[in-house]
Amino acid sequence: MIKTISYLGLGTMGSGMASNLLKAGYKLTVWNRNAEKCQPFARKGARVADTPADAVRDAELAIYSLSNDQAVEEVVFGAKGILSGIKQGQIAMDMSTVLPATSLREQEAYAKRGVNFLDAPVFGSKNESANAKLWIMAAGNKAIFEKVKPVLEHLGQTVHYFGKNGNAAAMKLVGNLIVALEMEALGEGLVLAQKAGLDLRTVMEVVKVADFRSPLLVSNGQNILKRDFSPSFALKLMLKDAELIEKFAESLQSPTPALRVAENNLKSAVTLGFGEENASALIKALEKEAGVEVKARRVRRSTETQQNH
Ligand code: NAP
Repeated sequence: MIKTISYLGLGTMGSGMASNLLKAGYKLTVWNRNAEKCQPFARKGARVADTPADAVRDAELAIYSLSNDQAVEEVVFGAKGILSGIKQGQIAMDMSTVLPATSLREQEAYAKRGVNFLDAPVFGSKNESANAKLWIMAAGNKAIFEKVKPVLEHLGQTVHYFGKNGNAAAMKLVGNLIVALEMEALGEGLVLAQKAGLDLRTVMEVVKVADFRSPLLVSNGQNILKRDFSPSFALKLMLKDAELIEKFAESLQSPTPALRVAENNLKSAVTLGFGEENASALIKALEKEAGVEVKARRVRRSTETQQNH
């Protein structure tokens, strides 16, 4: 049974997962590029490491969730990176969203050191990470997966095994293709509803119950109406994922025409300066083109209504 874990990358997703590992009673070491983010964990009893190599030295399982392929390159393969500290018999697990080819490169490098590797990206966002409600996919050696599964069950509400390394990373890109198109559909739909003069609260009531409903459409739609674009999943990360999906789909000659439309709007929204906002800020590119702002009308109090009659 795994007892000692190191967690590298304490961003939106990693901080929630690392907190849940502490709560579950694992002996935890943390590392983050910006060391300040380690402090709340140090106060709760985690060891803070100076480098990725130092972070993984005592851990049976080394987990990381980093922004992108470039960050994985630096933290895993770089000087004082994980590979220079990890030893035979340990397990490494990448929970970032990266290209399946990157997962395979990681697996090969770890295998040369006798280290087992799982790619284990997630669905869900800031709240699901904080509340251990993520939807997790994992791929790699089955026996190693079974060993790590109890740990994953402290982080998520479901865990699906996908077979050989790279497959979980591929599933993550398949899912995020659907997410990107849902975001585009929501943006286009709400802008059209606004232009048509529909009551947007009632529009969202229908989106909530109709047969095309999804939790993602409901939560993002409601936040758009409140003009709340605080990041759970940053727009710049959604753009990064769109670029990964495009590259991956191209490598398999799989068509993704609608993705290009969403990707262009994501790029426009980043150019307009909304990259740090939530991915739902994609709508701001469409709003600019349409010359409207999608916002729920103020609800009039009953006295105001009576006076006006
Ligand atoms: P985030 O809040 O931006 O955190 C990114 C983490 O990566 C931070 O710890 C950051 O360190 C670290 N990092 C970035 N570049 C680095 C580098 N060159 N060297 C070392 N560390 C580096 O991102 P997040 O939302 O947690 O996402 C993490 C991963 O999960 C991404 O691959 C993302 O696509 C995926 N994901 C996110 C969501 C979501 O809703 N947020 C959902 C599913 C999957 P610093 O603190 O020093 O910047």
